[in-house]
Amino acid sequence: MKNNQNKDNNNKKSYIVGIILFIILIVVSIASYMLLNKDKEKEEEYPYTQLITDINEGSVEKIEMTVGSTTVKVKLVGEEKEKTAIIPSTQAFIELIQDKKEQGIEFELNQKPANVITKIASNIFSLIPTIMMVALFILIFKMQGLGEKGKVYDGTENNTNVKFDDVAGLEEEKQELVEIVDFLKDPKRFQKMGAKIPKGVLLCGKPGTGKTLIAKAIAGEAGVPFISMSGSEFIEMFAGLGASRVRKLFEKAKRISPCIVFIDEIDAIGARRTSGGGAESENNQTLNQLLVEMDGFETDQTVIVLAATNRPEMLDKALLRPGRFDRQIMIAPPDLKGREEILKIHSKEKKFAEDLDLKNIAEDTAGFTGAELANVLNEAAIIATIKKHNEIEKQDLEEAVKKVTVGLEKTSRVISEKDKKLTAYHEAGHAIVSKFLETSLPVKEVSIIPRGLAGGYTMYRTNEDKFYISKTEMEEKLIALLGGRAAEKLALDDISTGASNDIEVATNIAKDMITVYGMSDKLGPISLKTDDPYQMNILGQNIEDVIGEEVKELIDVAYQKAQYILKENMQTLHAVAQVLLEKEVISEKEFNSFFE
Ligand code: ADP
Ligand code: ZN
Repeated sequence: MKNNQNKDNNNKKSYIVGIILFIILIVVSIASYMLLNKDKEKEEEYPYTQLITDINEGSVEKIEMTVGSTTVKVKLVGEEKEKTAIIPSTQAFIELIQDKKEQGIEFELNQKPANVITKIASNIFSLIPTIMMVALFILIFKMQGLGEKGKVYDGTENNTNVKFDDVAGLEEEKQELVEIVDFLKDPKRFQKMGAKIPKGVLLCGKPGTGKTLIAKAIAGEAGVPFISMSGSEFIEMFAGLGASRVRKLFEKAKRISPCIVFIDEIDAIGARRTSGGGAESENNQTLNQLLVEMDGFETDQTVIVLAATNRPEMLDKALLRPGRFDRQIMIAPPDLKGREEILKIHSKEKKFAEDLDLKNIAEDTAGFTGAELANVLNEAAIIATIKKHNEIEKQDLEEAVKKVTVGLEKTSRVISEKDKKLTAYHEAGHAIVSKFLETSLPVKEVSIIPRGLAGGYTMYRTNEDKFYISKTEMEEKLIALLGGRAAEKLALDDISTGASNDIEVATNIAKDMITVYGMSDKLGPISLKTDDPYQMNILGQNIEDVIGEEVKELIDVAYQKAQYILKENMQTLHAVAQVLLEKEVISEKEFNSFFE
């Protein structure tokens, strides 16, 4: 650790020195450029083309050249003052005048030896761009090299001391990975038996589901080093760097094997290869290098490559072939039991009130990833501290869940009465519309207290995790989302920017319904999320128009339905908005009492 820090510091120093040198160079070059130009300004401008014309016409009396200089002094017939012209190249100019002389044009040519000082100055001046380029390159390479790429965690107990016990839930996944741990611990045993162990394992799942954690746990359990790099780190400005970085990563892995190589966000380099040029072909190179490396190591090199992605369907098929990432493990967000376990693990070092039931929190956080749950507990501890509680209480946790889902309450923001009214109707609109939808979850809280970017929010109860969502549910979700905008329109006869997020979410859902889930009657159950031009061609030229029409149709219908529900319940809308304006928050019970 200490060594690494020293290295970082050294790197930082040379980085700062580099920047200073670079600035000095720029200043010097600007200054010298200005000085040289100042000299020129004094003289009358005499263009090169004019000089050639004058030579051809025989009106030149004398030309004075200095060796190594690109300026020449010219005296014209019958003129007192000498003129200075800039010639493009000395060599070419001498050839040209010799030609002219052969053609019989007469003038005097004086070649002076170089003035040493001006020569050096002009040489330095002409070198400046080169020096600057070199300096720039060095600087950029330094910056890229900052901190060695591919961090090695020592694998000793005090470094990657993550164990399977630190990974909550994911029991089956852990079981699948135990064999890799055993292999890393004692590869010979497997080799004697002739068993083939996967070289690459692809972990697929949303960010924060614990992919990195489980990879570290494998290294920790086996007691081997863990080298990690993120796919985005391979994507560099300069051609070839991505590929060389892959090569270096694997060189190191082979050197310190047995070990785990972890490539996060592999889709950044592993996306399907394309035929394009530029950044794309650079990407292809990096991917090709990765394929070469994966194929390259021998069975006696115990390097296991783990990679993580949220979009396995994007990956180049070549990556998934046998001998590469031929094993895939899905890491799903935790279910109820998993969430409770994750909460338990992360609550270990925190001080909780005794009556606190983590199960309740697990119930309220369906769909949360492990990272979000860890975040909730941390936020709860912060909130409890700020509120000067002796320990983390139930209300702190509930507040933390809200903070993580909708953002932090903004008590300091002053809101105009007009904005408040708009928000009140908007949120009342969401809530009331939801009440009349069969598949909608019950409203848990409606509020016009701003949180994060939202001016207010309508919170729903979460239900237990389900895997499938029906078309009706999605259609009704659209209606609930557009309920806010519909209420603004009906009650205030104006619409606002406050609905922008709702509209974005609704549009994405509608698009997915058509293109991912095949829920369009017109298009039928085909996956249209492809951007492969070949496949799009098979589907027909106007397929994108039809997708657009279908998305619009879904949204239009949902917006009309939302308006219809609210029109039928205008009195309730006014009433709920009124109470919101008075109290700012309405609980589930209060909200339901409007409908009794
Ligand atoms: P990913 O690599 O999938 O994006 P990470 O492994 O980086 O996710 O998870 C981020 C953090 O979330 C972890 O460091 C850990 O604190 C927490 N976490 C995620 N999943 C779990 C889990 N199953 N058990 C315990 N903690 C988890
Ligand atoms: Zn809204």
